[in-house]
Amino acid sequence: MTLGAKIPMCAPIMATKIPEAPKVGMVSLGCPKALVDSERILTKLRSDGYQMSADYAGADVVLVNTCGFLDSAKEESLEAIGEAIAENGRVIVTGCMGNEAELIRAKFPQVLAVTGAHQYEAVVNAVHEASPPIPNAFVDLVPEGGLKLTPRHYSYLKISEGCNHRCSFCIIPSLRGDLASRRIDAVLREAEKLVHAGTKELLIISQDTSAYGVDTRHEARQWKGREVRAHMTDLARELGQLRTAEGTPPWVRLHYVYPYPHVDHVIPLMADGLLTPYLDIPFQHAAPSILKAMRRPANEAKVLDRIRKWRDICPDIAIRSSFVVGFPGETEADFDYLLQWLDEAQLDRVGAFRFEPVEGAAANDLPGAVPEEVKEERYQRIMERTAAISAARLQAKVGRVLPVIIDEVGEADEDGSIGATARSQADAPEIDGNVFLRDVGEGLAPGSILNVLIEDADEHDLYGVPSV
Ligand code: SF4
Repeated sequence: MTLGAKIPMCAPIMATKIPEAPKVGMVSLGCPKALVDSERILTKLRSDGYQMSADYAGADVVLVNTCGFLDSAKEESLEAIGEAIAENGRVIVTGCMGNEAELIRAKFPQVLAVTGAHQYEAVVNAVHEASPPIPNAFVDLVPEGGLKLTPRHYSYLKISEGCNHRCSFCIIPSLRGDLASRRIDAVLREAEKLVHAGTKELLIISQDTSAYGVDTRHEARQWKGREVRAHMTDLARELGQLRTAEGTPPWVRLHYVYPYPHVDHVIPLMADGLLTPYLDIPFQHAAPSILKAMRRPANEAKVLDRIRKWRDICPDIAIRSSFVVGFPGETEADFDYLLQWLDEAQLDRVGAFRFEPVEGAAANDLPGAVPEEVKEERYQRIMERTAAISAARLQAKVGRVLPVIIDEVGEADEDGSIGATARSQADAPEIDGNVFLRDVGEGLAPGSILNVLIEDADEHDLYGVPSV
């Protein structure tokens, strides 16, 4: 699972005529799923008449949305709570670490309330108690699509909570429970609202996107006069029908996909331009014995063949993945197997992690702990190998014309030239690379999509100029 950096937030949203409305500050930690939770909480609070505070000093109460996935993430969460208490003093804790309320209270007895992940109502009630809302506050200050912590042009869309798997290194199911899928019509309605509100790129997230709807037996609902099932392929097909104000399909990225057989059915949608040719598949390892010990879902031998077939159908498909090295019992032969597998798979982007025991995870009891120095050495080797593959794949794009989405436009330099930071379809925000543009001309805004000629590449990023 991807762990994100601390996300600076508390952005002032817009002017209000109720100067005395209480102000809420927020620090959001953890993965994109936690970010979506933060957005929901803030949207609710905003509709209750609260204002957002851009700094600790101006906030009547500070929310810390924590991550409890890895011990290092817990540390970061505790640090953030400590900082909020030191800077403001009135702090409410929510998120995954809410399951460890006792630990938090023992360390920070001043904390006003502790609530767990997805307990939106509880956290909103805690804010009401700590700093009551002003009666008759304006309720129409919430933009269509709710409040967003991501830039306006891209949005995360969470399709389910929890997970039915029991990967031995993971405690997410005990933190977040079993898979609970949202209704397909609710998901599509939210997607449509976001696109109408200006979203140009939807990032589909969950713990296991391929398993969407398994818990509801893929319950069907009516949507636009059609019957659609809560199933990844139906979802992908319907998202491919959405259109932005410019009449183009929004970019739609699938994250946290496991290679179940039905993933093959979404590849033609990518080839047809209805789905962004991008798959984020956390493979975690390739050696059969390690995958078995990890208890990974959809662990089957033919993945390399399928990747080849996917590329035959959609040559531009970008595959991102993450891997764990130094898992208990990983031998030198297992690790070599992984490196060879990576040579064949030629993945576009790879994140690697050294195995770290997580309190409460079954993997902690497995025999064959790998010494730290061996983990480190394997980590360096996998990073080198995958960086070389990524660099070669980026180099192969030099000379091509590719669509990019603009994230940020710079100021004109002394020659009047304006640069911009963009991403190609192979780059998800925050986790992949960028396309740095020169001479973009005036009038370009974040969210614009344009074709660019790729002029250069390095290990992570591309460089280009608008194509004429
Ligand atoms: S699929 Fe495995 S790693 Fe991902 S949330 Fe479920 S149990 Fe955890």
